[in-house]
Amino acid sequence: MSLPYETEDVQLVRKSVREFAESEVAPYAERIDRENTVPEELLRRVAEMGYFAMRVPEEYGGPGLSLLEAVVTVEELARVSSAIGIMATVSGSMVAYPIVRYASKELKEEYLGRLAKGAIGAFALTEPCCGTDAAALTTRAVKDGDEYVISGQKMFITNGVYADFFLVAARTGKPEERHRGITLFLVDRKPCVKVSKLEMMGYRGSGTSLVYFDDCRVPEDHIVGEPGRGFKEVMMALNEGRITTAATGLGVMQAAFEEAFKYARERESMGVPIIEHQMVLSMISHMKTLLEASRLLIYTAAWKADQGHPDYILYSSMAKYFTARYGTDLVRLAMQVLGGIGYSKESPVERYYRDIKMIEIGDGTNEVQKLVITRYLLGKIRPD
Ligand SMILES: Cc1cc2nc3c(=O)[nH]c(=O)nc-3n(C[C@H](O)[C@H](O)[C@H](O)COP(=O)(O)OP(=O)(O)OC[C@H]3O[C@@H](n4cnc5c(N)ncnc54)[C@H](O)[C@@H]3O)c2cc1C
Repeated sequence: MSLPYETEDVQLVRKSVREFAESEVAPYAERIDRENTVPEELLRRVAEMGYFAMRVPEEYGGPGLSLLEAVVTVEELARVSSAIGIMATVSGSMVAYPIVRYASKELKEEYLGRLAKGAIGAFALTEPCCGTDAAALTTRAVKDGDEYVISGQKMFITNGVYADFFLVAARTGKPEERHRGITLFLVDRKPCVKVSKLEMMGYRGSGTSLVYFDDCRVPEDHIVGEPGRGFKEVMMALNEGRITTAATGLGVMQAAFEEAFKYARERESMGVPIIEHQMVLSMISHMKTLLEASRLLIYTAAWKADQGHPDYILYSSMAKYFTARYGTDLVRLAMQVLGGIGYSKESPVERYYRDIKMIEIGDGTNEVQKLVITRYLLGKIRPD
């Protein structure tokens, strides 16, 4: 039986994404991780399916998914390949959403239209100096006539190697103004944008990169939203992005659970399937409970955001925190159920074990989610 808000539409989305993921992504999943890259032909197919444009409204040519539908989409993609799941999350949610919400009509037409036609966007906030303390970022945007000149380094940028354009948070005010001096820009990939791919532990293939903006000239009208209000806009993008990022973790948890459950019924020890040994049964039960608790929090957060409930921000951080903290437990137990084979590259659980750790760090660490949860309870954070 499905959850009350897993409507027929949501179930149709799940069915079609699962079919695509199992038939077209699964054959590449191990290779994407091993080679730390997504082959061109698969990128093209994911783009054609509209997954890099999930939240782009139909009026701009996109699929116009609700957040809950986007969550189910990335969950199903990440169940097969975490890289494809997070790439869709970043381009189709974290980049698309602030453009939909804050950009001018002209920028919407251009950039949402490009996403809908298969372009890939990247979200460039973190810097070598500062991730959690994003208000300290140092990338500069200096006004020169009717252009801005952007210079600085961005770190750990998902989609960096594939992106056609970047949503960049840059400082237009003084450093001491902190979050009040930050503005969001849309910057096209061009020779002044230098990208260097990083070797990460998990979510390999998602193009995580160091991105260097070397005096990139951007027209003034490429500001998204208002000058000096970029930090607030980024935070709103993160409130949504945390739900879709958590959903990629949910996909990894689901895949790890399925492997462990199957193995526990097939593997025999002392004359019986290992699931009949109470200590293994206990691990399976615990994993299933963590999986469904994460699912409930993530879907509730997405549903609340779709309904316009202001406390979706609270649920977003709780969902991200719970999935990260207990997703790592679930995948560790999955490996335990598989024993030695789970620790080898013969099993995908080894990959899931490396992947799931990212959820404790990306889009705000566990510690940051706890800060947001308590600050929301204290009335210090509200949607704009
Ligand atoms: C695979 C991957 C993909 C990513 N993709 C993107 C992307 O597409 N775009 C992007 O902009 N960024 C991206 N990031 C960056 C990510 O958001 C940051 O790594 C994260 O926010 C943490 O920042 P940091 O690494 O600088 O750690 P730091 O901020 O240096 O934190 C180090 C430790 O100190 C703790 N800490 C720091 N400050 C506080 C505090 N005030 N209170 C309590 N604890 C604190 C942290 O929780 C952490 O445990 C990605 C990261 C990864 C790993």
